[in-house]
Amino acid sequence: MNTNQLRQEIIDYSKEIGVDKIGFASADVFASLKDRLKRQQELGYQSGFEKGSVAERTEPDRLLPEAKSILSIALAYPSRMKDAPKSTRDERRGIFCRASWGVDYHKVLKEKLEKLAAFIEEHMSDARTKLMVDTGELSDRAVAERAGIGFSGKNTSIITPEFGSYVYLGELITNVPFVPDTPLEDGCGSCTKCLDACPTGALVQGGQLNAQRCLAFLTQTKDFMPDEFRPKMGNFIYGFDTCQAVCPYNKQVDVHNHPEFEPEPEVAKPKLKPMLRISNREFKERFGHIAGSWRGKKPLQRNALLALGHYKDTTAVDDMIAVMTNDPRPVIRGTAAWSLGKIGTDEAFAAIRKAKDKETDDDVLAEMEKGLGFATSPTN
Ligand code: SF4
Repeated sequence: MNTNQLRQEIIDYSKEIGVDKIGFASADVFASLKDRLKRQQELGYQSGFEKGSVAERTEPDRLLPEAKSILSIALAYPSRMKDAPKSTRDERRGIFCRASWGVDYHKVLKEKLEKLAAFIEEHMSDARTKLMVDTGELSDRAVAERAGIGFSGKNTSIITPEFGSYVYLGELITNVPFVPDTPLEDGCGSCTKCLDACPTGALVQGGQLNAQRCLAFLTQTKDFMPDEFRPKMGNFIYGFDTCQAVCPYNKQVDVHNHPEFEPEPEVAKPKLKPMLRISNREFKERFGHIAGSWRGKKPLQRNALLALGHYKDTTAVDDMIAVMTNDPRPVIRGTAAWSLGKIGTDEAFAAIRKAKDKETDDDVLAEMEKGLGFATSPTN
């Protein structure tokens, strides 16, 4: 079979296995990405979650010798949750970003890519392949852009004409020289909605992201949340997708092609108070299958405490005092103290003062001071 026939068969097969969009790109060096990554490194804009050196991230033949092409696939995910439970005054809820609503996409896309790799190898005996989803060296977005899946928006997402930016991306490098697709034209024009909506100024003009200011990244860190970002998080406990929600290309888009990506409302929008006392086992059972659990329960609990503070949820004060007093993790004790101060009841302040007498960790003590500071803050 020649490569053009195989290319068409791959496209047909990808539809059969539930791939929403597929594109082909050359495996040439990603030269402009290389420059951008170097600049990002110099400016300190990286998240720290990146894999591989700049060379590995931009030179596909370092990952698969004799790489000739890269297949990019996209699977669309829902943007609206059916039967979303209400967050009430007595029972406040957090929210995971849309990309973490269903079964972990890494797993789903990897299965599709494995099928595509097997298909190619079956039809071409000397074909070799290497696949990756999100955590690989290659930039899913740079590949998707080159393969004509979508254009790269100012919010740094790949925006497809069919599904907006609510797509998961993955890719497969191969030594088979497929004819490449043509990249799409930039579609942002003079729009700046995402830049204007980003509450932390993480989007730098020209499609650059300062990950150190991006709430999607910061919600995944395990240390104390820097003070500046705490009031900006609202009830997001994992990820942050406001820059996608405001994008005109996403306005009418809500795709439900994959049962795996349907959100379980009680998981995607969980009650906050029970998050504070969830055991490791319960956490694994309840959240272990979604992408948002990959950093364990600590960042989610820290974010849940901040969300309770944001809501000034007086019904959570007892639970938060218990956490501030008994939790072995300083980040959790300290964040509880800060958020109790935010809630600002007499009981909360009294509890912080009492706990402060016994606290020995300097970072937690500093958070307690900040929490007590809200007693006299005119803006709290
Ligand atoms: Fe582009 Fe506007 Fe969408 Fe931002 S909101 S990605 S500027 S179209």
